[in-house]
Parts: sequence; C-alpha cells; structure tokens
Amino acid sequence: MTQETGNIITLKNVNKWYGEFHVLKDINLDVKMGEKIVICGPSGSGKSTMIRCINHLEEHQEGDIIVDGVILNNDLKNIGQIRKEVGMVFQHFNLFPHLTVLQNCTLAPIWVKKMPQKEAEKIAMKFLERVKIPDQANKFPGQLSGGQQQRVAIARSLCMNPRVMLFDEPTSALDPEMIKEVLDVMVELAGEGMTMLCVTHEMGFAKKVADRVIFMDAGQIIEENDPESFFNNPQSERTKLFLSQVL
Ligand code: ADP
Ligand code: MG
Repeated sequence: MTQETGNIITLKNVNKWYGEFHVLKDINLDVKMGEKIVICGPSGSGKSTMIRCINHLEEHQEGDIIVDGVILNNDLKNIGQIRKEVGMVFQHFNLFPHLTVLQNCTLAPIWVKKMPQKEAEKIAMKFLERVKIPDQANKFPGQLSGGQQQRVAIARSLCMNPRVMLFDEPTSALDPEMIKEVLDVMVELAGEGMTMLCVTHEMGFAKKVADRVIFMDAGQIIEENDPESFFNNPQSERTKLFLSQVL
C-alpha cells in the first residue's frame, strides 16, 4: 500500500459516533511521507477525535484507516504495530509523574521494544539533548516547567523512532513564554523531514512549516489548502469566520 500510493496515512470515508452523536463525518485524508499538516478549527469540531483515531486511542465505526500499509481494525496486533510507528504528543503532556524524565523516555523502548536499559538510556539522552534539556534527566516531571515537560513528551515519543508524529494542541496549556521553546523543537523536527500532523492554533507555525492546512468544523473537513492560499484566500464562510477570530 505505501509503496503503491506513497501515503503513510490514509483515512477513507471515516465515520465515528459517540453514542448518538456523529462526531466524524466522511473524513478523507491522505498524508504523504514527510508531509507536515496543520489541523485547525473551532473547539468541538472533532480534531482530537480524528487524530486519536489514527493510533486507535479512539475507535471509528465506518471507513478505513491505513497507517504505513497496515489497516487499523480490532486486530490487536495491528494496533500494536501502528502505535510503535506513530508518536503522540498531548496538550497536557501525559508524562508519568512518579517516573523521572529519563525513565519516562526509556519505559516504552524497554517494555515495548525490549531494548536493553543501557541502550534505551543512551537513546533517551540523545533526544533529551535534541530538545535541550539533558540536564533535567533525573528530575521528576513535577519539578519541570510546562515547556520543559512538553519537550520531554516530544523526546519520549522520538525514543520510539516513530515514522509519524501526531500533536494535539501541544502548546495550548503553556504560558506564552514557553510556547516558543516547544514550537522551536517542532520546527526543527519538521526541518529534519518528520511526517507531522499537528492540531494547533499557532498560525505562525502553520505558515512556517505546513505543507497543507486543514480546517475542520462540525466533524467535517471543510477546506484544505497550502498555507499561502489557506490564509490569504479562504474559500468557505466558516473558514473566514474562524480565521478572523484566531489571526
Ligand atoms: P476538538 O478537538 O476539535 O475540540 P473533539 O474531538 O475533542 O473536538 O470533540 C468533538 C466532539 O465530540 C465534541 O462535541 C465533544 O464534546 C465530543 N466528545 C469528545 N470526546 C467524547 C467522548 N469520549 N464521549 C462523548 N462525546 C465526546
Ligand atoms: Mg481537541
């Protein structure tokens, strides 16, 4: 599948309901290797749900989700394989509070990938250096600022050597002075060629790194375009209204 299409992620007519509530409506999306996509839209439009479906933190009911040639269904083996390839960074960091920064980073490589501890620690230190906090390795998350915790979360994801990174509003819970240090790391990652899907309202980031910006509203993809066209020439009224509120 990947070889044929060049797509690392495909969503085909994906529908999802929470009980009676139709949260994702016929979502179609192809993501190419190396592509950087920014997803924006009003609160409640289904952005988190959509990206959480990609690594099966949420389950869709109709349509196909294919990640790196592996179809996502209830086969637990497939889910495990996809989770190894898809890193996720959340708004509220989701670090383990009782583990040190280093232990947060080595946990999955040791337990999921069966990596020897020393090797996992070496890799973790490499990524903690990349996000510029190697000196915090032995502290606990609660001793770090929000910006530092989010950079740990990014390093922790990278330790699994993912092929795709999903970001769900990674800077929304941060104080303004910490937003830049996280965005800088994300810009660097983009520059290194990582495939990225980022839900964010940081439109400066979108303009700088996105190949495509997707606008969602009420469970649908309303509009998608390259950043230049998206910001300068939005097509739908809903997009225009949204942009007038965030820009
Ligand atoms: P966004 O990330 O764009 O703000 P979400 O994907 O979080 O939107 O939510 C989309 C809609 O689905 C919202 O109306 C939200 O209240 C609802 N929703 C989200 N999670 C659940 C859930 N676990 N159960 C029921 N409804 C949910
Ligand atoms: Mg959300």
